[in-house]
Amino acid sequence: MRLCRYLDATLGEDRLGLVQGQEILDVTPALDAIPAQRWPLAQGDPLITHLEAVTVRIRTLAAAAPRRPLAGAKLKSPVANPSKIINAPINYAAHIDEAKKDQGIAHGRDIKNIWDWGLFLKANSALIGPGEEIRLRMPDRRNDHEVELAVIIGKPCNKVAKADALAYVAGYAIGLDMTIRGPELPSFRKSVDTYAVCGPWLTTADEVGDPGNLRLFITVNGEMRQDASTARMVYDVPKLIEYASSMYTLLPGDLIFTGTPEGVGPVKPGDVLHAEIEKVG
Ligand code: MN
Repeated sequence: MRLCRYLDATLGEDRLGLVQGQEILDVTPALDAIPAQRWPLAQGDPLITHLEAVTVRIRTLAAAAPRRPLAGAKLKSPVANPSKIINAPINYAAHIDEAKKDQGIAHGRDIKNIWDWGLFLKANSALIGPGEEIRLRMPDRRNDHEVELAVIIGKPCNKVAKADALAYVAGYAIGLDMTIRGPELPSFRKSVDTYAVCGPWLTTADEVGDPGNLRLFITVNGEMRQDASTARMVYDVPKLIEYASSMYTLLPGDLIFTGTPEGVGPVKPGDVLHAEIEKVG
């Protein structure tokens, strides 16, 4: 199942969509399966927390749901309210190699290994979808694209073992970890508004199967920039879930951007980025 969030410009509100082929089925009434909440709100994304109940409603609504073309839809992040956006730095060997060679990436840092650096967080307020625009901050600096497989956590988990980790995944999306290069901490440089792109939709884990051998690529203005496979990750998806949850509880809707392969490079205002991940979107 492929679930998207899109803006209905006429209504001026976000809708929940089921993507089928080149169409979006408006299944917004399925959100009624999410119980009303009172303050203080539970942490975690309400849609992902109640995804099973929402999915049951979607199946009954789908046949009669209004349809619209996928083309031209203003897609937003399928997860609206993650409790955190977790990021793996230097998680592909060939990207580590290019970072060591290029001071435009390294900025004097000693590029080591993921187990030396740990993980970092991007601000939730940076989150947008592919139907929205990245707005460059500090355009005098190098601003890079980093295409990454994004894992969407489905159930709370803490100190989960690698062997059990995939049972906690709701689905996958494409993540763009947009980055201002420079000497500051990554959580600062990578948390600019619009610098965490997630989309085009949530593809449920059952449709993807093994996340460990998926082609991912990104073009800028039609030119191929990054083209690799998730098989080249240093820490694979189960290991990243084990590693992250060894330090903090993962909640439904939490996003893990799993690191970028080689080929990162600068973007400038007006560029068009096109990313794909096999089986995901
Ligand atoms: Mn990254």
